[in-house]
Amino acid sequence: MISSSEYKERMAKLKSNVYQGGNLVDRFDPSITGGIDVIAATYDFASDPEFAGVGVATSHLTGEKINRFCHIHQNMADLLAKQKMTRLYCQEIGGCIQRCMGTDALNALSIASFEADAQHGTSYYKHFTEFMKKVQKEDLALVCAQTDVKGNRAWRPAKQKDPDLYLRVVEKRPDGIIVNGAKAHNSCSAYADEIVVLPTRNMAADETDWAVAFSVPADTEGVYLINGAFNPPKHPRLSSPYCRQGESHSLTVFDHVFVPWERVFLCGEAEQAGKAALLFALYHRHSYTGCKAAVSEIFTGATALAAEYNGIANAQHVRHKLADMIQVVDLIYASGIAAAMHSVQAASGTCIPDSNYCNAGRMLAGEAIYGEYEALAAIAGGLAATLPHEEDFFNEKTRPYLEKYIMRVPEIPAENQHRAFRLFQDMMSSAWGGHKLIDALHGGGSPVIEKVAIYRDHNIEHSKNIAKRLAGIKIEDSTKGIFREKRSWY
Ligand SMILES: Cc1cc2nc3c(=O)[nH]c(=O)nc-3n(C[C@H](O)[C@H](O)[C@H](O)COP(=O)(O)OP(=O)(O)OC[C@H]3O[C@@H](n4cnc5c(N)ncnc54)[C@H](O)[C@@H]3O)c2cc1C
Repeated sequence: MISSSEYKERMAKLKSNVYQGGNLVDRFDPSITGGIDVIAATYDFASDPEFAGVGVATSHLTGEKINRFCHIHQNMADLLAKQKMTRLYCQEIGGCIQRCMGTDALNALSIASFEADAQHGTSYYKHFTEFMKKVQKEDLALVCAQTDVKGNRAWRPAKQKDPDLYLRVVEKRPDGIIVNGAKAHNSCSAYADEIVVLPTRNMAADETDWAVAFSVPADTEGVYLINGAFNPPKHPRLSSPYCRQGESHSLTVFDHVFVPWERVFLCGEAEQAGKAALLFALYHRHSYTGCKAAVSEIFTGATALAAEYNGIANAQHVRHKLADMIQVVDLIYASGIAAAMHSVQAASGTCIPDSNYCNAGRMLAGEAIYGEYEALAAIAGGLAATLPHEEDFFNEKTRPYLEKYIMRVPEIPAENQHRAFRLFQDMMSSAWGGHKLIDALHGGGSPVIEKVAIYRDHNIEHSKNIAKRLAGIKIEDSTKGIFREKRSWY
């Protein structure tokens, strides 16, 4: 395992390929460092005694202690520890911990590459295992580029007018492949060691060119990161832990990029490409049951704080709102625990969480976020939007007025009132707050996609049979089991 400063030293050595605001920018551009600091924290947390037992795992490949973000889940306990780690770290940071995409991609690939070899006699899993040893030894920070730009949403990859709208293999050589295309919304690519590329969807038999998975260093020749950086507002006088985070997402262009065979984990195996896509989504939704539980808890805590500072903590409507919010936190987290408890082991040995529970939790999280913004805005009142500028609280002339008129509960000092409402403003009434709202809805897959998965994986005939039996209608099957014993796509 490495330290946060070793991670930063490695980032500083990457070749420039980050484009932002019309310029080729340094990875340590001030707009990007907030995100770098979040990933850096994952290195420090691993050795923090307060997080003992969650951030470190034992490699099934070498027996060495490794950062859990570099681990392939071997059992239910690993899934539970990953979920708990994600929640704790996100709570500490104040939002997304940003390193889970790589972990989720690796776990998906450990299964898909193994199964491709079993079916096609290829050697992807051997290559993948060697790659994993490097990831674990060097404690690499990986991101996942799955989402294709997709062109016309109604058309499949092979039917697009421009075939590059889904990333594809354009040439196979004895030493590797050439890929061309672009991936959208690629979080943290500007400060990652490696970009893991996965297919975005199921592939048909005539779509083998698009059935490709691999990993490349983030500064590989031909990779261009057209980046957008997002940060909470900076407060020079009243800096807070919440404002130190930041994140980036890029349109990642692969312009005829060469990938050596040792780094190719699928190439033309349509069935396993689809599986890799679905498995990544599944692992990522399991991670969401940790991070979104943290985000929902932050909103719950902020709403309770707003109520306390406004002197309305005991009002019945406040308690009802808080109870609704707590219920969401608990249900999101519970769905991840249930998914781990109902996990199954793939042939590769990797542990797979239950699909229905993961999707139910992620869908609830994606849809609940608008209610969480509404609750905090309702209880905090208009000041969360109209709070005067920070500098006016420090201006000799205006300070006494602002300190006098911000007061609510007299025992709470003016600075704490100011700090609390500044946090609410940053969370909701800022460019960052708007960005995080869409992030919470679509990141990990839009709720509509979870609906598709939930319906796909639930044995609706079984549910209907229960109703039929209770109505006295004759049925063939027994209704004495639960549906999960009957349905699985992996
Ligand atoms: C902040 C953020 C970070 C992200 N980070 C990553 C990342 O690191 N890596 C990564 O791979 N992805 C990432 N994503 C991508 C995320 O998974 C996608 O946004 C999500 O899957 C939706 O895809 P899309 O944005 O292309 O939306 P679209 O596919 O354009 O979907 C928009 C809507 O169109 C409709 N639609 C789409 N296709 C069809 C169809 N065929 N038929 C009918 N209706 C359809 C759906 O209703 C959908 O809700 C991130 C997204 C966000 C917002």
